[in-house]
Amino acid sequence: MPYRRGWHARWAFGSAFMILGATAAVACGTQAVSRNRGMPAVTSTSSTTEPVTTTTTTTTTTTTTTTTTNVLRPPALPTPSTTTTLLPFTILGALPAGRPLSGKVIGVDPGHNGLNYTDPAYLDQQVWNGREYEDCDTTGTQTPNGYTEAQFNFNVATYLASDLENEGAGVVLTRSTNNGIGPCVDQRAEILNEAQSAVAIDIHADGGPPSGRGFAILLPVADGLNDAVIGSSQAFGEDVLSNFSATGMPISTYDGTDGFSYRDDLAGLNLTTVPKVLIECGNMQNSTDASVLTSTAFQQSAAVALADAITAFVG
Ligand SMILES: [Zn+2]
Repeated sequence: MPYRRGWHARWAFGSAFMILGATAAVACGTQAVSRNRGMPAVTSTSSTTEPVTTTTTTTTTTTTTTTTTNVLRPPALPTPSTTTTLLPFTILGALPAGRPLSGKVIGVDPGHNGLNYTDPAYLDQQVWNGREYEDCDTTGTQTPNGYTEAQFNFNVATYLASDLENEGAGVVLTRSTNNGIGPCVDQRAEILNEAQSAVAIDIHADGGPPSGRGFAILLPVADGLNDAVIGSSQAFGEDVLSNFSATGMPISTYDGTDGFSYRDDLAGLNLTTVPKVLIECGNMQNSTDASVLTSTAFQQSAAVALADAITAFVG
């Protein structure tokens, strides 16, 4: 997609961090205060005689990061290794104001990544999820024919990002391609928190029992870090439930109750400080669901439903 305002590298957390679309002026302006501090000198346009204050600003960023890490991870346990490649922080264009989501940043997390399966050691590293340690990530599931969940998630997220941009939003994605590894689940939460998303969604499809069908909305359970967004996440989940039914996918026959499943074992929900739900858009192990999930029409329909839910919640 075309760059409209150029790019900046973001180093504070070593994570992919993209903002797309409408609120670039607002998002960029907001984040310029906090994020540009951590940006490398390559973005500087200072003259050669201007004093460089990089050392001071770098120290500030490092201190902030360390404080956050200590809160999330018990000091008695080892800090997991981090091998995430530094990726660009991209701000793309400004659309006209006055649209339903103008001025809002929306977080979108396409679960897993297309090459996760190539690096088991990366996936096995332990990350703190707010209650306990868990694996950095998994490969995700796939249909009996080998269509991967990572691809599904990424397709829906891409359609959704486009829809949200058209509504005027700035969109933060936790990964920008389906040809990479990671980031870990804790970093995905951190990315969406740092972006101060008005609302965020983790997009997945399930690997449930082959006889089971349907979509489920996974909701956070209060654990301290996410206490302030339990009620708002529930409200957003209700918006997702009412809108996602328009896709024709039934409510899950096996996961949760009436479409909702409360989970305290997922980093994306345990660590969130912004309203968020995780949606399992269907069951890739079920042949009927699989034929639906792999269709472009459904993926686009799912994105529209999620965009409608986000607009209903935020607007
Ligand atoms: Zn998944």
